Amino acid sequence: MTFKTRFAPSPTGPLHLGHAYSAMLAHDLAAVENGQFLLRIEDIDRSRSRSHWEDQIYDDLHWLDLHWPDPVMRQSDRLAAYDKALDDLWARGLLYPCTCNRKDIATAASAPQEGAPLHGPDGIIYPGTCRAKWQPSSASDPRPKDVPLRLDMTAAGRLLLNTAQTDTIVGSFQEDGAGPNGETGTITFSLEELTKSIGDVVLSRRDMGTSYHLSVVLDDAAQGITHVIRGQDLFEATRIHVVLQGLLGLPTPQYLHHRLIRDEAGKRLAKRDDARAISKYRAEGASAADIRAMVGL
Ligand code: GLU
Repeated sequence: MTFKTRFAPSPTGPLHLGHAYSAMLAHDLAAVENGQFLLRIEDIDRSRSRSHWEDQIYDDLHWLDLHWPDPVMRQSDRLAAYDKALDDLWARGLLYPCTCNRKDIATAASAPQEGAPLHGPDGIIYPGTCRAKWQPSSASDPRPKDVPLRLDMTAAGRLLLNTAQTDTIVGSFQEDGAGPNGETGTITFSLEELTKSIGDVVLSRRDMGTSYHLSVVLDDAAQGITHVIRGQDLFEATRIHVVLQGLLGLPTPQYLHHRLIRDEAGKRLAKRDDARAISKYRAEGASAADIRAMVGL
């Protein structure tokens, strides 16, 4: 099998040691497998993406001695593909508009009968307020563009259940690395797990007309990615990606979730951790080999 992997940074800040680890690991594994390493710029968040950060990404990755073929895929060029997939899901009655704000969600999720609000990969698990008000017959109307759209996870899971080989498992993926609790090998999940621990995620945000989950799934398929290599923080979101692949008829790649690079206090590095920006180490005279040693590669 051909091995195709990718590094998919968002140009919303400087790349730091955690990004360097992820990119170099993917690049190394592609080389070992005689495969391909692709770059994708995840710039759907127009309010936070900046062209100077994108330029800095190319510059830092070249300096790390990483190579990828042109043209680089940029999510801002792919809005038509995201629209098409949303139209498809909408016409199948799998999406519904949601007018709740964060406060509404927090209030509904902490209602006395609900117990403590549960958190999923996207924050508090949506309590379903707008789903209950939704008229499914409206799916034949044009898809609304000015309001967030959520995936009806119960309907999605039931659909996948009908196509699955067992009556309990809705989806599965191969984990070549490990999740935060050591999950590895064949990871399977049930409809109940989906609705209880993930819920109705937003697939089209008002401000970007798409979402990370939808775009990443469509882009991995469009780029022919066979192996997704990324940080453990995205392990929980993978079940959402597998559901979307199932709904949209896309292949599920293999996944390798890797350890996270942390600061001295054990906290995962974030974009704002300018102190560990690759550009800062470069300015101080470090070499690409020094960065490799720092991240344990
Ligand atoms: N764009 C995401 C990030 O910068 C990575 C997405 C992925 O690898 O799936 O965290």
